[in-house]
Amino acid sequence: MFSKTIDFSSYSSIRIGPKVEVLVLEAGDPVPADRFLVGGANNLLLSPTPPPLMMLGKDFDYCRIEGELLEVGAATPTGKLLSFAKKHDLAGFEFVAKLPGTLGGMLAMNAGVKEHEIFPLLESVRIGEEWIPASSIEHGYRYARLPGIATAARFPLRRGYDDTLRRELLKLRNNQPKEPSAGSAFKNPPGDYAGRLIEAVGLKGKHLGGIAWSELHANFLVNRGGGTYAEALALLEEAKRKVKERFGVTLEEEIKIVTGEPGNRETEESRDLATGG
Ligand SMILES: Cc1cc2nc3c(=O)[nH]c(=O)nc-3n(C[C@H](O)[C@H](O)[C@H](O)COP(=O)(O)OP(=O)(O)OC[C@H]3O[C@@H](n4cnc5c(N)ncnc54)[C@H](O)[C@@H]3O)c2cc1C
Repeated sequence: MFSKTIDFSSYSSIRIGPKVEVLVLEAGDPVPADRFLVGGANNLLLSPTPPPLMMLGKDFDYCRIEGELLEVGAATPTGKLLSFAKKHDLAGFEFVAKLPGTLGGMLAMNAGVKEHEIFPLLESVRIGEEWIPASSIEHGYRYARLPGIATAARFPLRRGYDDTLRRELLKLRNNQPKEPSAGSAFKNPPGDYAGRLIEAVGLKGKHLGGIAWSELHANFLVNRGGGTYAEALALLEEAKRKVKERFGVTLEEEIKIVTGEPGNRETEESRDLATGG
């Protein structure tokens, strides 16, 4: 393992965060119990004082076919996975087009588009020395209770890459803003859309400093330049409060807020992951 300095104001998709040392783990390295694992930082809002961080290195960035299974390392970018699927005529991964991140982030978030999600494709997930059957891992809409840090996953081979499906799903991204963001800020509540609720309480387009609710899609917080963690947090809190007051609906963040402050949920969940607790 080694450390490198990462400037999260350019590494993270929302372009917020400090410049800090990140521990890079390679194959065989022990997983520290006191660090938060960062993937591609496409779903993260990092505070100026984050907890100690780690990430998976090059050893975990690969796609290979093993008999009737596809094995993919958890640090593999989604774009590389999609290219591999296309090259080898594999079905199922079309929805990862323009879904930024790494396989590890997709597993932790059960990332998806419409009815397409990563979990239904899985055979097993590697955690430590074990391959855990996907069927034994609790998961749902944009979450999975991984029993530790995932280093790889296996998928049964299914032939028939479908470029028409990829193009259809890409069209759904036409209403996504081009400015830096961290994807959807909130999960859609059952039977409704977070974007509709945010718009209904008059926040679409509202900005605070450099951060705004997108004019294009009200559930995307965008960084229009120089936006800060505090501004993003304030807009999130305001949306939650107003939606609760007007509709009685509690919005739940999809974006992971990561701070080093004691009691931070994401940080504690991450520690549980690292310790298998
Ligand atoms: C423009 C844009 C569009 C997006 N569109 C979509 C979309 O259509 N659908 C969708 O689902 N998401 C979408 N997202 C959100 C994001 O792309 C996904 O959540 C993605 O899976 C995040 O991957 P990541 O590697 O960047 O994870 P990160 O953001 O770095 O981390 C996310 C979580 O995963 C955990 N994690 C990362 N790696 C591992 C690992 N190896 N083991 C265990 N836990 C791990 C982290 O600790 C963290 O809790 C979008 C984001 C952007 C910016």
